[in-house]
Amino acid sequence: MIEVIDLNKMFDNGFEALKSVSFTIEKGDLVCLLGPSGCGKSTILNLIAGLLTPTNGEIKFSGSSVVKTEPKDRNIGFVFQNYALYPHMTVLENIMFPLTVGKKKLSKAEAKEIAEEYMKLTNIEELSNKKPGTLSGGQQQRVAITRALVQKPDVLLLDEPLSNLDARLRLKIREEIRRLVKEVGITTIFVTHDQEEALSISDKIILLNEGVIQQNDDPQNLYLDPANLFVAQFIGNPIINVLPVSVENGRMKHDLFELSTNHFSDERLKEPIVDGQYFIGIRPEDVLLTTVDNGIFQREIVSVELIGRERILNFDGQDIRMKSIVSIETDVNEGDVVTFDFAYNKLFIFKENGERIH
Ligand code: ATP
Repeated sequence: MIEVIDLNKMFDNGFEALKSVSFTIEKGDLVCLLGPSGCGKSTILNLIAGLLTPTNGEIKFSGSSVVKTEPKDRNIGFVFQNYALYPHMTVLENIMFPLTVGKKKLSKAEAKEIAEEYMKLTNIEELSNKKPGTLSGGQQQRVAITRALVQKPDVLLLDEPLSNLDARLRLKIREEIRRLVKEVGITTIFVTHDQEEALSISDKIILLNEGVIQQNDDPQNLYLDPANLFVAQFIGNPIINVLPVSVENGRMKHDLFELSTNHFSDERLKEPIVDGQYFIGIRPEDVLLTTVDNGIFQREIVSVELIGRERILNFDGQDIRMKSIVSIETDVNEGDVVTFDFAYNKLFIFKENGERIH
């Protein structure tokens, strides 16, 4: 449905915000553009909307190039983080407005009928006569999305739509957005820097860093099968443990432990582990407490944090930064010395340049 091919954006000051970005979005999918501040998410959205012109590359909707198409002719609904509602109009008038201007130019009665139909869908009928200034952030957000949907766009673009809402409301509205766009069946691109938000609502996630796509994949694959060290560290909370190691003659060495490279199954190895420097990445749930005989090193627990059904054990020190997650039933306390092993089949190995080889 949407194809982006070798997209490049250089701003007037010579800054290259996007470097050869390519991806395809299937009709009806909800895709998140995810990445740290400044990685180019909004730039991609603005290029798709036509608010920016690419320096190079192609953008196609249903097979046809839109690069030369005016923004107003791209049939796109755009919701910004500040909602941009008209303050002097009621909610109903805000939603009717796009239908009564431009190409559509419906009569007031027709526009009202359609607006009310969509307001039912988004559950904001009771707000109809209110002015935006009197609404909560979550309500304003629903109005802004309704106003975008009422125009029956082919694509809905949402730029950090939840960033002005408090934590609890974010959870609620993100579920609502997913339900709504799936119900309407509209192709949706959702920009966020919040990995949990992206994991929870997306059909696919496109993770960017410094204008380059790091991984474009199903949400669970970014967690379970990260393409590189950046992806592994960006996805997951608490953050993955990353430990520098050196390999020499089949032995993998860290200041605190040493293990045989035979622990790593051949079928998961993308290339042989030769002598040199690497990083291992191990998710907190894959750092296992075990008995002294079976473990690879011992360590004192610095602090224990209870989060719902699990405990996070923190082992940070000058020589290591590491966390483990265990079930709430595990009887461990601050100051206990425990023995670890790793779930080797879940452990990632990265080369010094971040490329993953296991
Ligand atoms: P955020 O999450 O902070 O909104 P983002 O990923 O959406 O970040 P963009 O707004 O796409 O990032 O910006 C990408 C990069 O391009 C940033 O480094 C930004 O400073 C730069 N940039 C954006 N607009 C311009 C401009 N008009 N001129 C020069 N540089 C720009």
